[in-house]
Amino acid sequence: MTDSKNPETIVLHAGHRKDDTTNAVAVPIYQTTSFQFDSTEHAANLFGLKEFGNIYSRIMNPTNDVLEQRVTALEGGVAALALGSGQAASLFAIQNICHAGDNFVSSTDLYGGTWNLFANTFKTMGIEVRYVDPSDPEGFRKATDERTRCYYAETLPNPKLNVFPIKEVADIGRELGVPLIMDNTACPILCRPFDHGAAIIVYSTTKYIGGHGTSIGGLLVDGGNFDWEAAGDRFPMLNQPDPSYHGAVWTEAVKPLGPIAYIIKARVTLLRDIGAPMAPFNAFQFIQGIETLPLRMERHCSNAQAVADFLAGHDKVTAVIHPSQQSGEARKRADTYLKGGYGGLVGFELAGGAEAGRKFIDALGLFYHVANIGDARSLAIHPASTTHSQLSAEDQLATGVSQGYVRLSVGIEHIDDILADLKQALDAA
Ligand code: PLP
Repeated sequence: MTDSKNPETIVLHAGHRKDDTTNAVAVPIYQTTSFQFDSTEHAANLFGLKEFGNIYSRIMNPTNDVLEQRVTALEGGVAALALGSGQAASLFAIQNICHAGDNFVSSTDLYGGTWNLFANTFKTMGIEVRYVDPSDPEGFRKATDERTRCYYAETLPNPKLNVFPIKEVADIGRELGVPLIMDNTACPILCRPFDHGAAIIVYSTTKYIGGHGTSIGGLLVDGGNFDWEAAGDRFPMLNQPDPSYHGAVWTEAVKPLGPIAYIIKARVTLLRDIGAPMAPFNAFQFIQGIETLPLRMERHCSNAQAVADFLAGHDKVTAVIHPSQQSGEARKRADTYLKGGYGGLVGFELAGGAEAGRKFIDALGLFYHVANIGDARSLAIHPASTTHSQLSAEDQLATGVSQGYVRLSVGIEHIDDILADLKQALDAA
């Protein structure tokens, strides 16, 4: 265990020193569905939330618990919940406080899958998303009414890579009693959204937190910094008796345990009912990944910077999308919210449009052509024909995807090999 505030130490030590029964240093994989109760009283106390402990791995698991504690410490939050995917984390983040008839306000700059979840799946549940352009934080205020339950955005959204004005929007939200939920998937370590006023963090751990590309997973982290009771009317799901848990009022029920009403409710109602837990084996994999996350982020950032500089000087490239290439307000936000580098993602547009984009991708040798980001290996994709293809052309443009756009997730290989592969693929494009 550690009291350190340094991420390099937290990722190796927070949440686990050794296994209590075997002294094993590595976190064991508790591959079990169930946990034996000591007595009927013990069982009743666990179900009644009178004491915390393991019941059933759909709702909690000791391997997942170490990952949850580690990411909580890294982000400076109070508690976390591991889930089966990043998509499940986005869904839970909203559904935990929104029901039919409610709305939330989201930045337009989103991962395509999240866009679809919000615009289409939530619509079928009667939950309305109100998309606003994040370049004007005041748009969030204008879109807010008494049924608005939260704001949602990505810190470093691809493909535009315009860093979100976290504090500006969090401040508006706190004035109106609306929490800001930040998807920080693309820039762990580089940004800590709670430091800027965000209330909840969403991660797809599938990406940089894992880094190995072996496992799908997600996380919700509760900052414990939002007063759900003060904004009482806005959060009936936290402040009024919950019929699904024999009338528990979540803000009251967990008060002795700290400001964890949001995350406890997500665990014991949504996870119980919807059932999208992270598998313990995957949690183990993410623990292996997170132990090297600060080092990897350094290399992702320096390699991506070199790639952006190289592309900016190439005559077949008409635009390079990377915070280092931005100016004005966008650059100011990148410099305010990202520390230690601009992340591993680089976008660019080829003069030859969609056809050149396809030829470029097909000519790549080192880069993998995959839908993922944040792998230790370098990855590339043509979003218009893949990740964003289910969006209308208009929605594609709103999220920043033009026909000739290519997205790179720059890995941690030697920079000479990365640049050599890009150069030969550009020659072929
Ligand atoms: N959030 C962001 C920013 C993403 O890039 C992704 C996936 O690409 C997700 C969420 C969804 O994560 P997952 O694929 O783990 O469900």
